[in-house]
Amino acid sequence: MLTLEKMYSMGHEEVIFVQDKSCGLKAIIGIHDTTLGPALGGTRLWPYASEEDALVDVLRLSRGMTYKNAISGLNLGGGKAVIIADPKDKNEALFRSFGRFIESLNGRYITAEDVNTSVDDIEHIFTETNYVTGVAQANGGSGNPSPYTALGVFRGIEASVTKAFGKRDLKGKTIAIQGVGSVGFELAKLLHEAGATIVYTDVNERNIQRMKEGVPSAKFVAPNEIFSVACDVYAPCALGASVNDETIPQLKAKIVCGAANNQLKEDRHGLILKEKGILYAPDYLVNAGGVMNVSIEFEGWADSKSRRMVDTIYDKTLEVFKIAEAQNIPVNKAADVMAENRITAMRQIKTSYLGKVSHRMPGQKRR
Ligand code: NAD
Repeated sequence: MLTLEKMYSMGHEEVIFVQDKSCGLKAIIGIHDTTLGPALGGTRLWPYASEEDALVDVLRLSRGMTYKNAISGLNLGGGKAVIIADPKDKNEALFRSFGRFIESLNGRYITAEDVNTSVDDIEHIFTETNYVTGVAQANGGSGNPSPYTALGVFRGIEASVTKAFGKRDLKGKTIAIQGVGSVGFELAKLLHEAGATIVYTDVNERNIQRMKEGVPSAKFVAPNEIFSVACDVYAPCALGASVNDETIPQLKAKIVCGAANNQLKEDRHGLILKEKGILYAPDYLVNAGGVMNVSIEFEGWADSKSRRMVDTIYDKTLEVFKIAEAQNIPVNKAADVMAENRITAMRQIKTSYLGKVSHRMPGQKRR
């Protein structure tokens, strides 16, 4: 399918291809929907095998941000960028050049961290443009978003436990975490403090060692054993698509709630979970703590403001469960309905004329 056709079918407003021969920059910026405000979403750096793969990813990810920002109650639209490069080739010039292109968009797109982009890289972008969030705390920014993402997932787990067991208390509940990286490790600490029992897996020795030291009571299992752990909650915090035809039959958990993006391999897996009586907390709602945190940078970031906003994930998750139950639809569909309803409502209030003539009136001559 051609790019414009893809944009049409997925509802994108704009896709920008940028390149700078001087530093080898090749990037695509996807602006999906700006009904709610400027498009915000991180920049992913990845050695895509082809331009086509990069385009498909940026289109998919930018649309995902529209839904995430909408359901989170943010006055932000959805966008995302991908830089086609090997992480080992990252350098200052690449990010500064990219920052200059973002600046040229005049605030229609605001970037942030994502896979393979760090606070240091964000600092280089910040040298060239203000349209970036996740800037270092030393420079007035919000810094690393992972602890806030973890807090949001923790609130999502609390809401799910409330729904499934009638009580918010996590004491004595068993949580199986897949992936104890930046978010999974922070989540494990919060769950441990709340009195939960933790079982985890990972493939990275350094992160496993950090868990052994940080949460010594947690039990390690091999990566392929995590799905069948006897537990209350399965928390995917590694890669996407871990809820699929092979893993669902193994699940003993009553709840799936974690940080990973796109946990359901396909939409239909939401329905399969529903039919099996497993409560699914929509990924893009419960992992929105990071984007909520960076959004606060525009009004002057403070940890307390950020935590207050992230705490709303508890009520929002319960609201989605209520919609799913009332309409008898899978929870992932209910989340989409909630996000789409907000966008539609805000689009409608923007149809009236506000009295500023910024275009020529019919019959008016060019001066
Ligand atoms: P990360 O790379 O720091 O951690 C991921 C961990 O998963 C690593 O320790 C890795 O070794 C492990 N892992 C990878 N493959 C595995 C496998 N097959 N089995 C077990 N473990 C495996 O990433 P992160 O920042 O912690 O993000 C985790 C997930 O949450 C990602 O899907 C990310 O897209 C999503 N997310 C993160 C944020 C954030 O603020 N960092 C925000 C929203 C969503």
